[in-house]
Amino acid sequence: MESAQTRSPSDPIPADDLVLPFQADRAGVSGRLVRLGPAVDEILRGHNYPESVCKLLGEAVALTALLGASLKFDGKFTFQTKTDGLVNLLVVDYRSSGTLRGYAGFDAEAVAALEEKGDISPGDLLGQGHLAMTIDRGPDMDNYQGVVALEGGNLNEAADTYFRQSEQLPTFIRVAVARHYSANAAGSGTDRGPWSWRAGGLMVQHLTREGGHGVPEKVSDDDGWNRARILAETVQDQELVDPLLAPDRLIYRLFHEEHVRAFETRSLTFQCGCSPDRVKSMLNSFSAGELEEMAEDGRIRVTCEFCNAQYDFDSADFARASSKPN
Ligand SMILES: [Zn+2]
Repeated sequence: MESAQTRSPSDPIPADDLVLPFQADRAGVSGRLVRLGPAVDEILRGHNYPESVCKLLGEAVALTALLGASLKFDGKFTFQTKTDGLVNLLVVDYRSSGTLRGYAGFDAEAVAALEEKGDISPGDLLGQGHLAMTIDRGPDMDNYQGVVALEGGNLNEAADTYFRQSEQLPTFIRVAVARHYSANAAGSGTDRGPWSWRAGGLMVQHLTREGGHGVPEKVSDDDGWNRARILAETVQDQELVDPLLAPDRLIYRLFHEEHVRAFETRSLTFQCGCSPDRVKSMLNSFSAGELEEMAEDGRIRVTCEFCNAQYDFDSADFARASSKPN
């Protein structure tokens, strides 16, 4: 796998907002564990969405972190669903610097009515459509996009289908999201409240080496893969999100018989990256007529979907800009 260095057992692992790459030598598999605490809590609370929408977006954030962490160059990984369900849009992106952000589009009245009725699983909200995963390597490089149909299943199933259908190697992938109630939060003096969102995910793949023509070749036989997959399938949702279960303890618990080793962790944070300049250049791509329609009392106001930041421009700035000859 990557040139990551093996951790010495004495290095403390921070317990949250990280990707922990690992390798199980006996089975010949590599994998990643993702743990999200404050980063996913900030993303989900920032939006004030209903609980069921938060869970679904939290799953998308965990999947994005698992998949995006495979980027080996500067770039951006985007996970986006477009469906006909009550949640018709999920957008999450991951930058190779380790930043995550995301938002959802949904029918607020219909979701509230469904939540009123009782327990709903996040997959119920998706409906039919597709999931697109895009790797953006910068302006001078080709983008890569993989698309998979969403046909009434949940996001874990969609990710499974993606790996089965693409020419990728056999892959196990699972994510979980939960509210975590902190026993001592009431007296902690913070305004975070007595609970916070947590998410986690596990991904395991055949370990590969570079074969002829740059095609990855499996290092191990299928027996090793099957043993690792069966062990991975025993992981409980609770284990993926438990803040008291250290990430390296969890992979040891799952794969110790297969001689598992943990590598250096990479940290994850919530960060939007929007700025007045970026919003301005986005607005400059609209025609003068479109900008006129957006303007109200001589101002153009834009709210960032990812972080709710408000931008307010004088529409005269754009009138001048768009009347300039190119
Ligand atoms: Zn923003």
